[in-house]
Amino acid sequence: MNQIVAIVGRPNVGKSTLFNRLIQRREAIVDSVAGVTRDRNYGKSEWNGRTFSVIDTGGYIKGSDDIFEGEIRKQVELAIDEADAIIFVTDVEEGITPMDETVASLLRKVQKPVLLAVNKVDNSMREKDAIEFYNLGLGEYYTLSSTSGSGTGDLLDALMQALPEPEVETATEDELPRFAVVGRPNAGKSSFINALIGEDRYIVTDIAGTTRDSIDTRFEKFGFKFNLVDTAGIRRKAKVKEDLEFYSVMRSVRAIEHSDICILVIDATRGFEGQDQSIFWLAEKNRKGVVILVNKWDLVEKDTMSSKQYADRIREEISPFTDVPILFVSALNKQRLLKALETAVKVYENKTQRIPTSKFNDHMLKLIEAFPPPALKGKYVKIKYCMQLPTPTPQFVFFANLPQYVKDPYKRFLENKIREQWDFEGVPIDIYIREK
Ligand code: GDP
Ligand code: GDP
Repeated sequence: MNQIVAIVGRPNVGKSTLFNRLIQRREAIVDSVAGVTRDRNYGKSEWNGRTFSVIDTGGYIKGSDDIFEGEIRKQVELAIDEADAIIFVTDVEEGITPMDETVASLLRKVQKPVLLAVNKVDNSMREKDAIEFYNLGLGEYYTLSSTSGSGTGDLLDALMQALPEPEVETATEDELPRFAVVGRPNAGKSSFINALIGEDRYIVTDIAGTTRDSIDTRFEKFGFKFNLVDTAGIRRKAKVKEDLEFYSVMRSVRAIEHSDICILVIDATRGFEGQDQSIFWLAEKNRKGVVILVNKWDLVEKDTMSSKQYADRIREEISPFTDVPILFVSALNKQRLLKALETAVKVYENKTQRIPTSKFNDHMLKLIEAFPPPALKGKYVKIKYCMQLPTPTPQFVFFANLPQYVKDPYKRFLENKIREQWDFEGVPIDIYIREK
């Protein structure tokens, strides 16, 4: 399982500059496929063959001019809870500030790896100025210049050394789908889960282990078997009252990464908001199956808005990945909860289906022949062969003589044709064009 690295520190020290540098290379790859970058605060990074997730905690409170110490404190505490390692960024230009002291005092108590980064060390003069950061009592520090990138290699080497080896994912014998119930506070996640569990507590067995990474709970209900991936809603760690985007997103990261399917619960009375969107993107970016539950549907006046209109609005927000089931439920009245489970199971089947290569070629090559990629600079692109790759999430490769000439609109055309023919509802898919 991916490990999570959180970047913390007071505003303006260069957290987001460092974050962008860390995710750069991966992001470029993902973008060319998805076409858009959307979450500026969460991304994947890779160093020496190890992939990890990076969260810029500062990104979530950007824009507010004066940030209170209490705010930083909460952020750091959450990072401590949720991350496997923490990069604490400071600024050599400003030196140690009282807020840095506060952060350091929180981090000194932590059992997890903490790396102190002294940023804006753009020249060797500043290298000397950095010495004062020993006074934070966090031991060794790493000097870097996030704008130029110097020093980030050493920081990442140290990070890899400090991070515990990722736990090898032990395949559950039965290969049950893993569902994560996610959404912002008060959307109704716990109500949904409790309605499923009902009073039959005995049906819930912790597959357990006591390590923090085994967060699956075996579930059997209405004839469905699945593992429910723990979220804040289930464990009810410190229940977060604040409705800040940062909290629900950060608390969702691990559960989403660990799941096959994300059941995104939204509050019908509030509509599809920024936080819902961030969580949706988190799922999409990680190539998870998605089911959207519009909960508290019992509270919506049906003459003011039909479910069709409501769903259309959500699809506008989640475009271009709109082939997603949207269900209108009530956890309170136990309405359509069975349907919700059925749909999640169906999305799992969609996600794990394998299309035989011969069938795939038969269907797609005919379409491609009828609508070939547009010629570019007088050159014709020929696609002669295609197949689904044997990957955990659906990926399709098309072999062409001039792959670089096949642009995004044509890839979208291919994706749409695949979705028309085969059921990939709720499942992000990737299209690659390769040289034959
Ligand atoms: P954040 O608020 O901690 O996310 O900080 P930002 O990443 O937005 O950076 C704040 C300012 O510091 C921006 O103007 C950056 O260009 C600048 N900055 C970031 N890293 C460096 C660095 O390594 N050297 C210098 N000189 N400036 C930097
Ligand atoms: P969580 O923070 O996402 O786990 O949300 P909760 O399950 O704690 O629900 C938040 C509030 O919404 C509680 O007061 C619930 O009783 C209420 N609630 C949850 N689901 C529904 C629903 O379907 N209809 C109505 N009317 N209220 C609901």
